[in-house]
Amino acid sequence: MQKICLLGATGSIGTSTLDLIQQHPERFDLVSAAANTSVERMIEICRQFKPERVVMGTETARDAVAQACSDLTIQFDYGSSAMSDIASDHNVDQVVAAIVGFAGLTSTLAAIRAGKRVLLANKESLVTAGRLFMDEVVKNNVILMPIDSEHNAIFQCLPQNDTGVIKASVEKILLTASGGPFRNFTHDQMLTVTPEQACKHPNWSMGRKISVDSASMMNKGLELIEACWLFDVEPDDIDVVIHPQSIIHSMVSYDDGSVIAQMGNPDMKIPIAYGMTWPERITTQVKPLNLLEVARLDFSEPDTSRFPNLQLAADAWYIGGTAMASLNAANEVGVDAFLNKRIGFLDIAKINAEVLEQTAIFPVTDLDAVFDADKMARQKANDIINSKAFL
Ligand code: NAD
Ligand code: MG
Repeated sequence: MQKICLLGATGSIGTSTLDLIQQHPERFDLVSAAANTSVERMIEICRQFKPERVVMGTETARDAVAQACSDLTIQFDYGSSAMSDIASDHNVDQVVAAIVGFAGLTSTLAAIRAGKRVLLANKESLVTAGRLFMDEVVKNNVILMPIDSEHNAIFQCLPQNDTGVIKASVEKILLTASGGPFRNFTHDQMLTVTPEQACKHPNWSMGRKISVDSASMMNKGLELIEACWLFDVEPDDIDVVIHPQSIIHSMVSYDDGSVIAQMGNPDMKIPIAYGMTWPERITTQVKPLNLLEVARLDFSEPDTSRFPNLQLAADAWYIGGTAMASLNAANEVGVDAFLNKRIGFLDIAKINAEVLEQTAIFPVTDLDAVFDADKMARQKANDIINSKAFL
Protein backbone atom coordinates (compact mmCIF):
# COMPACT_ATOMS: atom_id res chain seq x y z
CA MET A 1 0.00 0.00 0.00
CA GLN A 2 1.45 3.35 -1.09
CA LYS A 3 0.58 6.24 1.22
CA ILE A 4 0.06 9.42 -0.74
CA CYS A 5 0.30 13.11 0.07
CA LEU A 6 -1.45 15.14 -2.64
CA LEU A 7 -0.43 18.81 -2.86
CA GLY A 8 -2.84 20.73 -5.11
CA ALA A 9 -5.61 18.16 -4.53
CA THR A 10 -8.46 20.32 -5.87
CA GLY A 11 -6.86 21.11 -9.23
CA SER A 12 -6.77 19.36 -12.56
CA ILE A 13 -3.78 17.11 -11.76
CA GLY A 14 -5.17 16.59 -8.26
CA THR A 15 -8.47 15.36 -9.71
CA SER A 16 -6.77 12.91 -12.09
CA THR A 17 -4.64 11.60 -9.20
CA LEU A 18 -7.71 11.06 -6.99
CA ASP A 19 -9.39 9.21 -9.85
CA LEU A 20 -6.44 6.76 -9.94
CA ILE A 21 -6.46 6.36 -6.14
CA GLN A 22 -10.16 5.55 -6.35
CA GLN A 23 -9.61 3.05 -9.16
CA HIS A 24 -6.93 1.17 -7.15
CA PRO A 25 -7.91 1.27 -3.47
CA GLU A 26 -5.80 -1.85 -2.80
CA ARG A 27 -2.64 -0.01 -3.91
CA PHE A 28 -3.08 3.63 -2.82
CA ASP A 29 -4.20 5.42 0.30
CA LEU A 30 -4.63 9.21 0.41
CA VAL A 31 -3.17 10.18 3.80
CA SER A 32 -2.96 13.94 3.32
CA ALA A 33 -4.04 16.67 0.93
CA ALA A 34 -3.45 20.38 0.42
CA ALA A 35 -5.09 23.10 -1.63
CA ASN A 36 -5.42 26.85 -1.57
CA THR A 37 -9.01 28.08 -1.16
CA SER A 38 -11.30 25.59 -2.98
CA VAL A 39 -13.38 24.83 0.08
CA GLU A 40 -16.31 22.99 -1.54
CA ARG A 41 -14.10 20.63 -3.52
CA MET A 42 -11.90 19.90 -0.50
CA ILE A 43 -14.97 19.03 1.57
CA GLU A 44 -15.95 16.47 -1.09
CA ILE A 45 -12.42 15.04 -1.04
CA CYS A 46 -12.49 14.74 2.75
CA ARG A 47 -15.82 12.91 2.68
CA GLN A 48 -14.79 10.55 -0.08
CA PHE A 49 -11.16 9.76 0.83
CA LYS A 50 -11.02 10.48 4.58
CA PRO A 51 -7.36 11.61 4.69
CA GLU A 52 -5.64 12.00 8.08
CA ARG A 53 -4.45 15.56 7.48
CA VAL A 54 -5.66 18.42 5.30
CA VAL A 55 -3.97 21.80 4.78
CA MET A 56 -5.57 24.83 3.16
CA GLY A 57 -3.90 28.04 1.97
CA THR A 58 -5.74 30.38 4.33
CA GLU A 59 -7.15 30.29 7.85
CA THR A 60 -10.63 31.12 6.54
CA ALA A 61 -10.55 28.23 4.08
CA ARG A 62 -9.23 25.87 6.76
CA ASP A 63 -12.01 26.87 9.18
CA ALA A 64 -14.68 26.42 6.52
CA VAL A 65 -13.51 22.89 5.60
CA ALA A 66 -12.95 21.92 9.24
CA GLN A 67 -16.42 23.04 10.23
CA ALA A 68 -18.12 21.16 7.40
CA CYS A 69 -16.15 17.99 8.28
CA SER A 70 -16.30 18.18 12.07
CA ASP A 71 -17.80 14.66 12.17
CA LEU A 72 -14.61 13.24 10.54
CA THR A 73 -11.35 12.57 12.38
CA ILE A 74 -9.15 14.76 10.19
CA GLN A 75 -6.45 17.13 11.43
CA PHE A 76 -6.89 20.50 9.70
CA ASP A 77 -4.23 23.16 9.24
CA TYR A 78 -3.35 26.07 6.99
CA GLY A 79 -0.34 27.78 5.43
CA SER A 80 2.87 26.96 3.68
CA SER A 81 4.80 25.44 6.57
CA ALA A 82 1.95 23.02 7.31
CA MET A 83 2.07 21.97 3.63
CA SER A 84 5.77 21.23 4.04
CA ASP A 85 4.92 19.24 7.19
CA ILE A 86 2.49 16.92 5.43
CA ALA A 87 4.91 16.54 2.50
CA SER A 88 7.68 15.33 4.82
CA ASP A 89 5.55 13.29 7.25
CA HIS A 90 7.13 9.89 8.10
CA ASN A 91 3.76 8.34 7.27
CA VAL A 92 3.98 9.26 3.56
CA ASP A 93 5.59 7.25 0.72
CA GLN A 94 4.80 9.45 -2.28
CA VAL A 95 4.19 13.14 -2.69
CA VAL A 96 2.32 14.39 -5.74
CA ALA A 97 3.57 17.97 -6.23
CA ALA A 98 0.64 19.52 -8.11
CA ILE A 99 0.38 23.02 -6.69
CA VAL A 100 0.50 25.57 -9.50
CA GLY A 101 3.36 28.06 -9.71
CA PHE A 102 6.20 29.22 -7.48
CA ALA A 103 3.88 28.69 -4.48
CA GLY A 104 4.69 24.97 -4.78
CA LEU A 105 8.45 25.29 -4.34
CA THR A 106 8.73 25.07 -0.55
CA SER A 107 6.53 22.00 -0.11
CA THR A 108 8.07 20.20 -3.10
CA LEU A 109 11.54 20.76 -1.64
CA ALA A 110 10.34 19.56 1.77
CA ALA A 111 9.23 16.29 0.16
CA ILE A 112 12.60 15.92 -1.55
CA ARG A 113 14.55 16.62 1.63
CA ALA A 114 12.48 13.97 3.41
CA GLY A 115 13.46 11.43 0.72
CA LYS A 116 9.94 10.77 -0.57
CA ARG A 117 9.17 9.54 -4.05
CA VAL A 118 8.19 12.80 -5.71
CA LEU A 119 5.77 12.99 -8.64
CA LEU A 120 6.54 16.36 -10.16
CA ALA A 121 3.76 18.28 -11.91
CA ASN A 122 4.78 21.64 -10.41
CA LYS A 123 7.33 22.47 -13.12
CA GLU A 124 7.75 26.03 -11.81
CA SER A 125 9.57 24.74 -8.71
CA LEU A 126 12.21 22.97 -10.80
CA VAL A 127 12.50 25.85 -13.27
CA THR A 128 13.10 28.42 -10.54
CA ALA A 129 15.32 26.49 -8.14
CA GLY A 130 17.07 24.35 -10.81
CA ARG A 131 20.49 23.27 -9.61
CA LEU A 132 19.58 23.48 -5.89
CA PHE A 133 16.50 21.34 -6.54
CA MET A 134 18.47 18.66 -8.46
CA ASP A 135 21.30 18.65 -5.87
CA GLU A 136 18.74 17.86 -3.17
CA VAL A 137 17.29 15.07 -5.30
CA VAL A 138 20.72 13.43 -5.54
CA LYS A 139 21.66 14.07 -1.89
CA ASN A 140 18.44 12.49 -0.59
CA ASN A 141 18.33 9.55 -3.05
CA VAL A 142 14.96 10.70 -4.27
CA ILE A 143 13.09 8.93 -7.02
CA LEU A 144 11.88 11.93 -9.02
CA MET A 145 9.10 10.97 -11.42
CA PRO A 146 8.23 13.69 -13.92
CA ILE A 147 4.50 13.62 -14.58
CA ASP A 148 4.45 16.49 -17.03
CA SER A 149 3.39 14.39 -20.04
CA GLU A 150 6.39 15.30 -22.23
CA HIS A 151 8.96 14.63 -19.51
CA ASN A 152 7.21 11.46 -18.51
CA ALA A 153 7.41 10.41 -22.17
CA ILE A 154 11.14 11.22 -22.34
CA PHE A 155 11.65 9.26 -19.10
CA GLN A 156 9.87 6.30 -20.74
CA CYS A 157 12.05 6.59 -23.87
CA LEU A 158 15.38 6.66 -22.01
CA PRO A 159 17.23 3.62 -20.59
CA GLN A 160 16.59 3.15 -16.87
CA ASN A 161 18.05 1.53 -13.79
CA ASP A 162 16.27 1.11 -10.46
CA THR A 163 16.74 4.77 -9.47
CA GLY A 164 15.55 6.41 -12.69
CA VAL A 165 16.94 7.21 -16.13
CA ILE A 166 20.59 6.76 -17.03
CA LYS A 167 22.77 8.83 -19.33
CA ALA A 168 22.71 7.48 -22.87
CA SER A 169 24.18 8.42 -26.23
CA VAL A 170 21.34 10.73 -27.07
CA GLU A 171 21.52 12.83 -30.21
CA LYS A 172 18.48 15.02 -29.49
CA ILE A 173 15.46 15.16 -27.28
CA LEU A 174 12.38 15.94 -29.35
CA LEU A 175 9.98 17.85 -27.12
CA THR A 176 6.53 17.91 -28.66
CA ALA A 177 4.07 20.80 -28.32
CA SER A 178 0.43 20.99 -29.41
CA GLY A 179 0.88 24.65 -30.35
CA GLY A 180 -2.13 25.57 -28.20
CA PRO A 181 -5.39 27.23 -29.23
CA PHE A 182 -3.65 30.09 -31.13
CA ARG A 183 -1.28 27.94 -33.18
CA ASN A 184 -2.68 29.29 -36.44
CA PHE A 185 -3.55 32.81 -35.24
CA THR A 186 -1.78 35.82 -36.71
CA HIS A 187 -0.15 38.42 -34.48
CA ASP A 188 -3.11 40.74 -35.04
CA GLN A 189 -5.65 38.05 -34.17
CA MET A 190 -3.80 37.36 -30.90
CA LEU A 191 -4.00 41.05 -29.90
CA THR A 192 -7.63 40.71 -28.90
CA VAL A 193 -8.00 37.12 -27.64
CA THR A 194 -9.83 36.66 -24.32
CA PRO A 195 -8.94 34.55 -21.25
CA GLU A 196 -11.84 32.24 -22.16
CA GLN A 197 -10.34 31.60 -25.62
CA ALA A 198 -6.88 31.08 -24.13
CA CYS A 199 -8.17 28.57 -21.58
CA LYS A 200 -9.87 26.44 -24.23
CA HIS A 201 -7.04 24.07 -25.09
CA PRO A 202 -7.70 21.88 -28.16
CA ASN A 203 -6.46 18.59 -26.63
CA TRP A 204 -5.99 18.90 -22.85
CA SER A 205 -8.24 19.99 -20.01
CA MET A 206 -6.02 21.83 -17.49
CA GLY A 207 -5.91 24.60 -14.87
CA ARG A 208 -6.17 28.20 -16.07
CA LYS A 209 -2.54 29.21 -15.54
CA ILE A 210 -1.03 26.33 -17.53
CA SER A 211 -3.72 26.77 -20.20
CA VAL A 212 -2.63 30.38 -20.78
CA ASP A 213 1.01 29.22 -20.72
CA SER A 214 0.17 26.66 -23.42
CA ALA A 215 -1.49 29.34 -25.53
CA SER A 216 1.55 31.66 -25.24
CA MET A 217 4.10 28.81 -25.63
CA MET A 218 5.53 29.79 -22.23
CA ASN A 219 4.53 26.31 -21.11
CA LYS A 220 6.92 24.87 -23.70
CA GLY A 221 9.58 27.36 -22.54
CA LEU A 222 9.17 26.22 -18.94
CA GLU A 223 9.24 22.61 -20.16
CA LEU A 224 12.44 23.24 -22.10
CA ILE A 225 14.13 24.36 -18.88
CA GLU A 226 12.46 21.52 -16.96
CA ALA A 227 13.89 18.99 -19.43
CA CYS A 228 17.37 20.51 -19.17
CA TRP A 229 17.43 20.03 -15.39
CA LEU A 230 15.77 16.61 -15.40
CA PHE A 231 17.85 15.01 -18.14
CA ASP A 232 21.13 16.94 -17.77
CA VAL A 233 21.05 18.55 -21.22
CA GLU A 234 20.97 22.08 -22.65
CA PRO A 235 18.39 23.84 -24.87
CA ASP A 236 20.62 23.19 -27.90
CA ASP A 237 20.19 19.44 -27.27
CA ILE A 238 16.40 19.78 -27.52
CA ASP A 239 14.25 20.37 -30.60
CA VAL A 240 10.73 21.61 -29.96
CA VAL A 241 8.37 20.05 -32.50
CA ILE A 242 4.80 21.25 -33.02
CA HIS A 243 2.57 18.20 -33.15
CA PRO A 244 -1.07 19.37 -33.03
CA GLN A 245 -2.67 15.94 -32.38
CA SER A 246 -0.86 15.46 -29.00
CA ILE A 247 -0.58 11.72 -29.58
CA ILE A 248 3.22 11.53 -29.42
CA HIS A 249 4.13 13.02 -26.03
CA SER A 250 7.85 13.40 -26.84
CA MET A 251 10.73 11.44 -28.35
CA VAL A 252 14.39 10.61 -27.90
CA SER A 253 16.66 10.45 -30.94
CA TYR A 254 19.76 8.28 -30.41
CA ASP A 255 23.21 8.47 -31.99
CA ASP A 256 22.57 5.26 -33.94
CA GLY A 257 19.63 6.81 -35.81
CA SER A 258 16.88 5.23 -33.72
CA VAL A 259 14.07 7.48 -32.52
CA ILE A 260 11.88 6.25 -29.65
CA ALA A 261 8.52 7.91 -29.05
CA GLN A 262 5.90 7.47 -26.34
CA MET A 263 2.31 7.66 -27.57
CA GLY A 264 -1.15 7.60 -26.08
CA ASN A 265 -4.38 9.52 -25.94
CA PRO A 266 -3.88 12.88 -24.24
CA ASP A 267 -4.93 12.13 -20.65
CA MET A 268 -2.79 13.00 -17.62
CA LYS A 269 -3.86 9.80 -15.85
CA ILE A 270 -1.32 7.93 -17.99
CA PRO A 271 1.81 9.81 -16.81
CA ILE A 272 0.50 10.11 -13.25
CA ALA A 273 -0.15 6.34 -13.00
CA TYR A 274 3.28 5.60 -14.43
CA GLY A 275 4.81 7.90 -11.80
CA MET A 276 2.86 6.22 -9.00
CA THR A 277 3.80 2.64 -9.87
CA TRP A 278 7.04 2.81 -11.90
CA PRO A 279 8.62 0.45 -12.87
CA GLU A 280 5.27 -1.36 -12.91
CA ARG A 281 2.22 -0.25 -14.89
CA ILE A 282 -1.44 -0.28 -13.86
CA THR A 283 -4.76 0.23 -15.63
CA THR A 284 -5.99 3.83 -15.93
CA GLN A 285 -9.35 3.53 -17.73
CA VAL A 286 -7.95 5.83 -20.44
CA LYS A 287 -9.32 4.91 -23.86
CA PRO A 288 -6.76 2.79 -25.74
CA LEU A 289 -5.05 4.59 -28.61
CA ASN A 290 -6.60 3.77 -31.95
CA LEU A 291 -4.13 4.85 -34.63
CA LEU A 292 -6.62 4.14 -37.40
CA GLU A 293 -8.97 6.67 -35.82
CA VAL A 294 -6.13 9.20 -35.41
CA ALA A 295 -5.17 8.53 -39.05
CA ARG A 296 -2.45 11.16 -39.30
CA LEU A 297 0.27 12.74 -37.20
CA ASP A 298 1.58 16.19 -38.23
CA PHE A 299 4.80 17.94 -37.30
CA SER A 300 6.09 21.47 -37.85
CA GLU A 301 8.59 23.98 -36.52
CA PRO A 302 7.61 26.44 -33.76
CA ASP A 303 7.31 30.10 -34.79
CA THR A 304 9.34 32.08 -32.25
CA SER A 305 8.41 35.43 -33.80
CA ARG A 306 4.71 34.93 -33.00
CA PHE A 307 5.56 33.08 -29.77
CA PRO A 308 8.68 34.76 -28.28
CA ASN A 309 8.37 33.05 -24.87
CA LEU A 310 10.03 29.89 -26.13
CA GLN A 311 13.20 31.77 -27.07
CA LEU A 312 13.09 33.78 -23.82
CA ALA A 313 13.19 30.54 -21.85
CA ALA A 314 16.22 29.28 -23.76
CA ASP A 315 17.89 32.68 -23.22
CA ALA A 316 17.17 32.50 -19.49
CA TRP A 317 18.79 29.06 -19.30
CA TYR A 318 21.96 30.29 -20.96
CA ILE A 319 22.04 33.49 -18.83
CA GLY A 320 21.81 31.14 -15.85
CA GLY A 321 21.59 31.96 -12.12
CA THR A 322 18.34 33.61 -11.08
CA ALA A 323 17.30 34.45 -14.68
CA MET A 324 14.92 31.49 -14.79
CA ALA A 325 13.27 32.48 -11.47
CA SER A 326 12.87 36.06 -12.76
CA LEU A 327 11.31 34.93 -16.02
CA ASN A 328 8.94 32.58 -14.23
CA ALA A 329 7.87 35.27 -11.75
CA ALA A 330 7.26 37.83 -14.51
CA ASN A 331 5.15 35.27 -16.34
CA GLU A 332 3.07 34.40 -13.25
CA VAL A 333 2.29 38.10 -12.75
CA GLY A 334 1.55 38.60 -16.45
CA VAL A 335 -0.75 35.57 -16.71
CA ASP A 336 -2.65 36.64 -13.63
CA ALA A 337 -3.09 40.17 -15.05
CA PHE A 338 -4.27 38.72 -18.37
CA LEU A 339 -6.76 36.39 -16.65
CA ASN A 340 -8.07 39.42 -14.75
CA LYS A 341 -8.37 41.36 -18.03
CA ARG A 342 -5.83 44.01 -16.96
CA ILE A 343 -3.52 43.41 -19.95
CA GLY A 344 -3.74 41.87 -23.40
CA PHE A 345 -2.55 38.38 -24.28
CA LEU A 346 0.54 39.55 -26.19
CA ASP A 347 1.58 41.77 -23.26
CA ILE A 348 2.52 38.65 -21.28
CA ALA A 349 5.55 37.96 -23.48
CA LYS A 350 6.47 41.66 -23.59
CA ILE A 351 6.54 41.82 -19.80
CA ASN A 352 8.59 38.61 -19.68
CA ALA A 353 11.16 40.07 -22.09
CA GLU A 354 11.42 43.38 -20.23
CA VAL A 355 11.79 41.77 -16.82
CA LEU A 356 14.38 39.32 -18.08
CA GLU A 357 16.37 42.15 -19.61
CA GLN A 358 16.05 44.65 -16.77
CA THR A 359 16.24 42.60 -13.59
CA ALA A 360 19.59 41.95 -11.92
CA ILE A 361 20.68 38.32 -12.23
CA PHE A 362 22.75 36.67 -9.52
CA PRO A 363 24.04 33.16 -8.86
CA VAL A 364 21.69 30.71 -7.16
CA THR A 365 23.84 30.15 -4.06
CA ASP A 366 20.92 29.30 -1.80
CA LEU A 367 17.14 29.33 -1.70
CA ASP A 368 17.08 32.95 -0.47
CA ALA A 369 18.56 34.00 -3.82
CA VAL A 370 15.64 32.34 -5.61
CA PHE A 371 13.06 34.00 -3.34
CA ASP A 372 14.77 37.40 -3.72
CA ALA A 373 14.82 37.08 -7.52
CA ASP A 374 11.17 36.03 -7.53
CA LYS A 375 10.21 39.04 -5.42
CA MET A 376 12.21 41.55 -7.48
CA ALA A 377 10.84 40.24 -10.77
CA ARG A 378 7.23 40.35 -9.48
CA GLN A 379 7.78 43.95 -8.42
CA LYS A 380 9.22 44.87 -11.80
CA ALA A 381 6.40 43.12 -13.68
CA ASN A 382 3.78 44.88 -11.55
CA ASP A 383 5.50 48.23 -12.16
CA ILE A 384 5.33 47.64 -15.90
CA ILE A 385 1.64 46.69 -15.72
CA ASN A 386 0.71 49.63 -13.49
CA SER A 387 2.61 52.19 -15.56
CA LYS A 388 1.62 50.52 -18.86
CA ALA A 389 5.22 51.07 -19.95
CA PHE A 390 6.23 48.93 -22.98
CA LEU A 391 2.66 47.65 -23.37
P1 NAD B 1 -5.02 23.91 -11.20
O1 NAD B 1 -5.12 25.38 -11.22
O2 NAD B 1 -6.11 23.09 -11.76
O3 NAD B 1 -4.79 23.44 -9.68
C1 NAD B 1 -3.84 24.04 -8.84
C2 NAD B 1 -3.90 23.46 -7.45
O4 NAD B 1 -2.93 24.16 -6.65
C3 NAD B 1 -5.26 23.65 -6.76
O5 NAD B 1 -5.52 22.54 -5.93
C4 NAD B 1 -5.02 24.89 -5.90
O6 NAD B 1 -5.86 24.95 -4.76
C5 NAD B 1 -3.58 24.69 -5.50
N1 NAD B 1 -2.91 25.94 -5.14
C6 NAD B 1 -2.82 27.07 -5.86
N2 NAD B 1 -2.12 28.01 -5.19
C7 NAD B 1 -1.76 27.44 -4.02
C8 NAD B 1 -1.06 27.90 -2.87
N3 NAD B 1 -0.59 29.15 -2.79
N4 NAD B 1 -0.88 27.04 -1.85
C9 NAD B 1 -1.38 25.78 -1.92
N5 NAD B 1 -2.05 25.29 -2.96
C10 NAD B 1 -2.26 26.12 -3.99
O7 NAD B 1 -3.62 23.55 -11.90
P2 NAD B 1 -3.20 22.21 -12.65
O8 NAD B 1 -3.57 22.30 -14.07
O9 NAD B 1 -3.63 21.00 -11.85
O10 NAD B 1 -1.60 22.33 -12.60
C11 NAD B 1 -0.86 22.09 -11.42
C12 NAD B 1 0.61 22.02 -11.77
O11 NAD B 1 0.82 20.92 -12.64
C13 NAD B 1 1.14 23.25 -12.54
O12 NAD B 1 2.46 23.51 -12.15
C14 NAD B 1 1.10 22.81 -13.98
O13 NAD B 1 2.07 23.46 -14.77
C15 NAD B 1 1.42 21.33 -13.85
N6 NAD B 1 0.93 20.51 -14.96
C16 NAD B 1 -0.42 20.41 -15.19
C17 NAD B 1 -0.89 19.65 -16.24
C18 NAD B 1 -2.37 19.49 -16.49
O14 NAD B 1 -2.75 18.74 -17.39
N7 NAD B 1 -3.25 20.14 -15.75
C19 NAD B 1 0.01 19.00 -17.07
C20 NAD B 1 1.37 19.11 -16.82
C21 NAD B 1 1.82 19.87 -15.75
MG1 MG C 1 3.44 19.28 -20.51
